[in-house]
Amino acid sequence: MSTREQDLQEIRAAVGKLCADYPGEYWRALDRERRYPTEFVRALTEAGYLSCLIPEQYGGSGLGLSFAAAILEEVQASGANGAATHAQMYIMGTLLRHGTEAQKRAYLPKIATGELRLQAFGVTEPTAGTDTASIRTTAVRRGDQYIVNGQKVWTSRAEHSDLMLLLARTTPRDQAAKKTDGMSVFLVDMRAALGHGLTIRPIRTMINHSTTEVFFDNMAVPAENLIGAEGRGFRYILDGMNAERILIAAECVGDARWFIEKAKNYAVERKVFGRAIGQNQGIQFPIARAYMAMRAAALMVEKACDLYEHGRPCGAEANMAKQLAAEASWQAADMCMQTHGGFAFAEEYDVERKFRETRLYQIAPISTNLVLSYLAEHVLGLPRSY
Ligand SMILES: Cc1cc2nc3c(=O)[nH]c(=O)nc-3n(C[C@H](O)[C@H](O)[C@H](O)COP(=O)(O)OP(=O)(O)OC[C@H]3O[C@@H](n4cnc5c(N)ncnc54)[C@H](O)[C@@H]3O)c2cc1C
Repeated sequence: MSTREQDLQEIRAAVGKLCADYPGEYWRALDRERRYPTEFVRALTEAGYLSCLIPEQYGGSGLGLSFAAAILEEVQASGANGAATHAQMYIMGTLLRHGTEAQKRAYLPKIATGELRLQAFGVTEPTAGTDTASIRTTAVRRGDQYIVNGQKVWTSRAEHSDLMLLLARTTPRDQAAKKTDGMSVFLVDMRAALGHGLTIRPIRTMINHSTTEVFFDNMAVPAENLIGAEGRGFRYILDGMNAERILIAAECVGDARWFIEKAKNYAVERKVFGRAIGQNQGIQFPIARAYMAMRAAALMVEKACDLYEHGRPCGAEANMAKQLAAEASWQAADMCMQTHGGFAFAEEYDVERKFRETRLYQIAPISTNLVLSYLAEHVLGLPRSY
């Protein structure tokens, strides 16, 4: 085994150990109250796990995407929910790739220690949906400020974040050369803006996700908080999507592992008709199928990480990893429900909670149809469908 593989194994074991302090009861209580896992997030932050993608020169561990993926996979495989904080790992990528040196020095070291939380990502809007170029939130330059008006929806963790990465139109769509031009990215200091043009409203959902809708009413953002060049924000956001997709895929692999382990154990323990239900091929085969799907998805995650870390194009692999892993976790979730019979519905088994949680990844951060459209058009050369 190479030193790198050994390091990966060690970090996996250490994450598993940390997560053992946050068992099912912890997540169940939070789920019931729709409460944010502050203690868990603090523990991950203090252990330095969330700074993997921040280079050492800016105070991070610089371990890279494979390590970030391994960490999030282990979080999910332990039964925890990394969605509370996974964005702290990757949202800063836009700042890292496109920010000025002064911006990077001002923010990245504090993001690395967790002193600043950058885990709110304001892209989706109620009327635009997947069609990001149709966003209506505007940022208009007035002197040394931009004045922001509009609304975002599904802005997760906004109440648990100090900063938000915001995509807004700086040139009206009908005046831009292309519909994807004329959008810009800003780093919004939500602490300063709250009550001064920024309103956050939680959305209660079927999972404990701390998601919100946010409203901008003449919210002033200093011009120095523009990231990169005005009008190129859509490209900057796209640049960050591969890392996001790969990490979400790793989480889905972790979820699938959790469901498979849970189902396997139950299939051995549960006796019906005087024998373990796991003796029946009708129970064994779905577990074996889920295992195969999980392993195949994990290989695609590994491939995508490898390409990403070598700076090679990985759009197809990142999308395929996300889709295959989300399908594998959903297949495993359904199998785990079925294996548990009626007890799958009892909260104390955690199966129904994880079942609800993993369903999200068919829809966010990108829905399955859009991944298929991407592959059809950009990889297979089929005509654009929208
Ligand atoms: C819990 C949660 C957390 C989220 N967190 C964030 C966040 O932090 N930040 C953020 O910006 N967004 C976030 N999102 C938004 C998420 O990225 C979007 O919900 C997702 O991209 C889908 O967009 P939509 O909901 O507007 O669906 P729509 O765009 O309205 O699509 C609805 C359905 O139609 C399908 N569809 C649409 N167009 C086509 C087409 N051309 N061909 C085929 N099918 C099509 C879609 O696949 C989907 O199944 C979150 C969403 C949820 C539910």
